[in-house]
Amino acid sequence: MNDTVKPQAKARTAIIVGGGVAGPTAALALRRAGIEAVVHEARDTRPEPGGGPLSVAANGQAALDLVGAGHLLDGIAVPTPRFIVQSYTGKVLGEMNDAPDRRPRMTLPRGTLTAALGRHAESEGVEFAYGKRFVGAVDTGRSVIARFDDHTTAEADVLIGCDGIHSAVRAAIDPKAPEPRYTGLVGFGGHVDAGGLPDTGGAQHFVFGRKAFFGYQIEAGECGWYANLPVKRIGQGELRETGIDAWTERLRLAFARDDSPALAILDRVTPETFIPAHRLEDLPRVPRWSKGRTVLVGDAAHATSPSSGQGASLAAESAVELAICLRDLPPEAAFRAYRHRRGDRVERVIAMAARTNRAKAAGPVAARLRDRFMPFFMEKFNTPEKTAWQYAYRIDWEAAA
Ligand SMILES: Cc1cc2nc3c(=O)[nH]c(=O)nc-3n(C[C@H](O)[C@H](O)[C@H](O)COP(=O)(O)OP(=O)(O)OC[C@H]3O[C@@H](n4cnc5c(N)ncnc54)[C@H](O)[C@@H]3O)c2cc1C
Repeated sequence: MNDTVKPQAKARTAIIVGGGVAGPTAALALRRAGIEAVVHEARDTRPEPGGGPLSVAANGQAALDLVGAGHLLDGIAVPTPRFIVQSYTGKVLGEMNDAPDRRPRMTLPRGTLTAALGRHAESEGVEFAYGKRFVGAVDTGRSVIARFDDHTTAEADVLIGCDGIHSAVRAAIDPKAPEPRYTGLVGFGGHVDAGGLPDTGGAQHFVFGRKAFFGYQIEAGECGWYANLPVKRIGQGELRETGIDAWTERLRLAFARDDSPALAILDRVTPETFIPAHRLEDLPRVPRWSKGRTVLVGDAAHATSPSSGQGASLAAESAVELAICLRDLPPEAAFRAYRHRRGDRVERVIAMAARTNRAKAAGPVAARLRDRFMPFFMEKFNTPEKTAWQYAYRIDWEAAA
C-alpha cells in the first residue's frame, strides 16, 4: 500500500459548463450543499424566452423544489393534467391523467424554462459567464482547469459538464463516447395565436397521424404545437437549407387526410414562431459519466428523445443527486455514487421513449396494429400505479449519499 496517497478532500468549488436546465439547477443545488459554482455558457447572452412546448413532470418539479426553483413554473407554464392519445381517424386510443394526488405536468416554451432558471440562479448569487465555449480541460489531480474558445481558463475542484446532448465535456472525458443517435424523426414546433380554435381544457393531444405525429395544447388563445415527421436520413446541411415554406408544405401533405386540427394550426405559423427543423436524437448508454474530477449531468450523460417528456425533469433530478453526492463524498467517490443512483432510472426512460418513437414512425401495417392494440396497453400500463416509478420519484435531500 502506498502511504503517500492522501485521501481526496471534498469539493468546495465547481466549474459548470452549460447554462440550459441542468447547469443552473446544479449550481443552485451545489450552493445548497455548500459548494460554489460558476456557470460557463457558450451563448453570448442570456437565453431568450420562447421555443417549442416542453412539459415538466411532477418528479422534475419536485427536484426543482429542492433547489427553491419549483415556484418559477407558476404563471409561466400551463397545467397539463391530461394527455389524450388519438389516431388519425379521430378515434381516442387512450388517456393519461395525472393522479389526483399528483401535481399536474406544467407545460411552457423550452427557452422560457431555461431563461427563468438562469435568471433565478443569478438572483440567488450564482455567477454566469457568457461567451465561454468549453474546448478542453486539464486535470491536475488536485483541481481541474477548463479551457474556453476565447482563450480564457477557469480552475476549480470539479468540472461538471451540463452542455447538452452534443457535449464537448463528454468527448473530453472519453473521446470514444457514443454519438447521439438519430431517431428517424425530424421535429418542428412553436406557439401560435389560437384565436377561434377550441380550448383543449388542460389536455394535450397526441395524434398518431397516417404519416406523421402531431401534438398540441390550446389554452387562453395560445396554441403550443409540435410535429414529428419520419425522415429516414437527413444531414444538418439539408435541415438548414430547407426553408420554412418547404417544411410546412411537407407537414401539410403529411397531415392532409388526418382528423386533427394540424392544418388549421399550421396555417397560423409565422417565421417568427416556427422552431427550425431539428433531428430528434437520443443517446445510447454512455459508458463513462466521469473521469478524475470531471463529470456529466443532464443530456450530456443521458439524453432521452423528447418523446419521453422527461429530459428536463431527469436533468434536474441528476443535478440535485450529484450535489448530494458531492456534499457527502470526495469527488471520485461522489461520481461513482451518483452514477449508481441514476444509471438504471435514466436508461429505463430512454428505452421507453425509443419504443414511443417506433410507434410514431410506424408504416401502414404497424399503424393499424398500433391503433388496434394501443387502447389495451394504455389502459393496462398507463395507470398512476404503473407510471409511479417515473412521476412519483422523490429525492431525499437529507439522506446521506
Ligand atoms: C423538441 C424538444 C422537445 C422537448 N420536450 C421535452 C419535454 O416535454 N419535457 C422534458 O422534460 N424534456 C423535453 N425535452 C428535452 C429537454 O429539453 C432536455 O432534456 C433538457 O433541456 C436537458 O437539459 P441540459 O441542461 O442537459 O441540456 P440543454 O438544455 O441542451 O443545455 C445545454 C447548454 O449547454 C450549452 N453548451 C453547449 N455546448 C457548450 C460548450 N462547449 N461550452 C459551453 N456551453 C455549451 C448550450 O448552449 C446550452 O445552453 C425536449 C427537447 C427537444 C429538443
